[in-house]
Amino acid sequence: MTTVEEAKILVAQFNPNLKTFVCNVPSSSGMVLAEDVLSPIHMPPFAQSAMDGYALGDGSRVQGSTFKVVGEAAAGSGVSFQLKQGEAVRIFTGAPVPATATAIVQQEWIERNENTITLQREVPDRMHIRSQGEQMQKGDVAIEKGTLITPATIGFLSMLGITTVPVFEKPKITVLVTGNELVSPGLELQYGQIFESNSTMLIAALAQEGVEAKSERVADNLDETIEKIGQAMAKSDIIILSGGISVGDHDHVRTALAELRVNEEFYKVAQKPGKPIFFGTKGQKAVFALPGNPAASLSCFYEYVLPVVRKFYGHQDIHLPSFKLPIADGVIRKMDRAQFLKAKVENGKVHVLEGQSSAMLNTFALSNAQVYIPANSQELKQGDFVEVHLLP
Ligand code: AMP
Ligand code: MG
Repeated sequence: MTTVEEAKILVAQFNPNLKTFVCNVPSSSGMVLAEDVLSPIHMPPFAQSAMDGYALGDGSRVQGSTFKVVGEAAAGSGVSFQLKQGEAVRIFTGAPVPATATAIVQQEWIERNENTITLQREVPDRMHIRSQGEQMQKGDVAIEKGTLITPATIGFLSMLGITTVPVFEKPKITVLVTGNELVSPGLELQYGQIFESNSTMLIAALAQEGVEAKSERVADNLDETIEKIGQAMAKSDIIILSGGISVGDHDHVRTALAELRVNEEFYKVAQKPGKPIFFGTKGQKAVFALPGNPAASLSCFYEYVLPVVRKFYGHQDIHLPSFKLPIADGVIRKMDRAQFLKAKVENGKVHVLEGQSSAMLNTFALSNAQVYIPANSQELKQGDFVEVHLLP
């Protein structure tokens, strides 16, 4: 059986060709830059005051020096002053600093008398002047290709006057849900039926990645499974199947995928939850078949599907954020498979939660992390450090 480590390598080795488009900056959050972005201007574009106070001309700036106030410069006023020796202008934060100014003194450091000010402290040269281009010079690389665009990035791009950026396209994804026992929430349950929960869950997880996905239902029969997967492959970059990948008589997904000539990268991973999981490729397309059990499905999504989704849009941190934390309580191990345990990170510790069944979501719904326990790991004692994967 494939180990978790081998499965992760196979996933990371899949390198689809990336497609790009030009995106409006305000709607580019969560996208990845497809090219270096150069600054079209100096930032700040002119020498700027960083304080409300006075711009001082030439002259001594020791304590007790006096300057004559000859005018006022407010933010946005656009007036420029030619300061002579011993002259100052009243200035406000963000206003252009006269080229002849030597420093800005904040208003708390002076005493004003009619048209003169007296310095209460010595004022160092260039104090509180933001020089032209101090943050960014025109033509410099403002943000590098491969950067994930965040709200701060959007602010920075806007600050430079940039309105559009080249980014990588997000993948097109279809979620195919198998299982004759499943009924959409909102309808009435008949005996033997359960509500279908994987599609809304997986679509929500994809939405957190900024990917809009559609789901379709597939009956548990081979012909329909082949047909629906075939149709999904024609219009999608990634196909995520739910259920039907185990060894029961009504599990047709693996046979259908073989029929459709999808190359099997791995099938079955030595892990709990999520042993029956399939990853395959066909050219530029990726196909995942996730276990039907809801907790196993979501756990596998975060560990294997998410990295491939991220690869499609050039995101370089393909995995969930991972770090080591001490475990709040010991864990008894009764298996030789690797485990992903639903957990809660709190106050610098990780608590493994009660109720790890792959059929249940109640525990997953309370968790903010998965603890990864490698196959060869022994029992864990309180305070032992474990690998924690933080959920989005
Ligand atoms: P399967 O992987 O198809 O054998 O399904 C395993 C278990 O998960 C069965 O108890 C199914 O009823 C349940 N299951 C499968 N798909 C879903 C789904 N989309 N939503 C909720 N439960 C599911
Ligand atoms: Mg099934």
